[in-house]
Amino acid sequence: MINRLHTLIYPAIALLIGCSQEPEKIIMTVSGPVPASELGTTLIHEHVLVDFIGADSTGYHRWDKEEVVKKVVPFLAEIQEFQVSTLVECTPAYLGRDPWILKALSEQTGMHLVTNTGYYGAHNNRFIPAQFHQMSAETVSQLWVEEFENGIDGSGIRPGFIKIAVDNSDTLSAAHRKIITAAALTQQKTGMVIASHTGPDAPAFEQISVLQSHNIDPSCFIWVHAQLGTLEGNIKAARLGSWVSLDNVNMKREPGSAYDVEWYAERIAALKEAGFLHRVLISHDAGWYKPEEELGGDFRGFTGIFTALIPALKSLEFSKEELDQLLVKNPREAFSLRKTAGS
Ligand SMILES: [Zn+2]
Repeated sequence: MINRLHTLIYPAIALLIGCSQEPEKIIMTVSGPVPASELGTTLIHEHVLVDFIGADSTGYHRWDKEEVVKKVVPFLAEIQEFQVSTLVECTPAYLGRDPWILKALSEQTGMHLVTNTGYYGAHNNRFIPAQFHQMSAETVSQLWVEEFENGIDGSGIRPGFIKIAVDNSDTLSAAHRKIITAAALTQQKTGMVIASHTGPDAPAFEQISVLQSHNIDPSCFIWVHAQLGTLEGNIKAARLGSWVSLDNVNMKREPGSAYDVEWYAERIAALKEAGFLHRVLISHDAGWYKPEEELGGDFRGFTGIFTALIPALKSLEFSKEELDQLLVKNPREAFSLRKTAGS
């Protein structure tokens, strides 16, 4: 196939950076491609809006775009105070993904926002459309590649990564094997990284082996919610080259309770000790506007990493360079579009 990545994006970037040499790595934001070096401090897994009503009932009619933007802008302004310049929005289609809202937020704040393509299979397929079950992995992948090439739902806004989800059981169901296979096919055609809501070790390694059977390097896989995996599992995945994403840093958890900030600091320190800080990603998995609640209900902001986790890491003698690795360098590398076959 004609490689659209090469024909459309790289020349645009070469123009942007004013040279015709080997192009710099790029990130696909809701406002188009940007050089990866522009990303800056990045939160890699947060949410603007989530609608849990289910794939059969959700849709853009469920919320007022302007009202959502008005509610969320102050929470973005808050993290701009901590020099955050990029937010990766992880809400998939059929769960409240709205590219127009993300574009408006980007325009109002000047931040880079990144959206996704893919299906969220966890929770027994409640958030994937019924027709999925009749489709082959190839057909599903075509829909996702189409979003990358032409934009989401007629918006012209393109996804920057593939977001999928599988159930946290020991073996992948046939449906979830189809989802990771569709993600593999999409990755090969677009160069986008695959972020998969996964949880424990077993489904993480099963997905990595599906990718490897398609000759996809494990570095194209982000193990989302890897905090639910074992330290040994995290290290094994990192050794393969996969990204270990420790999500859900949550200030509402009491110190001393499971997965408090101290726990995250210690898990990150253990991964550093093992030599894999360069494979670790962190996020709050926070937000979000809830369409069924008055004015979107309670919104959990995106600041705990800066107010609590970073101080905890500093007390474990993390250097500024190591903190930059977590919040600047690793996100930049994880979300850069890979070159695809033929490009
Ligand atoms: Zn999430």
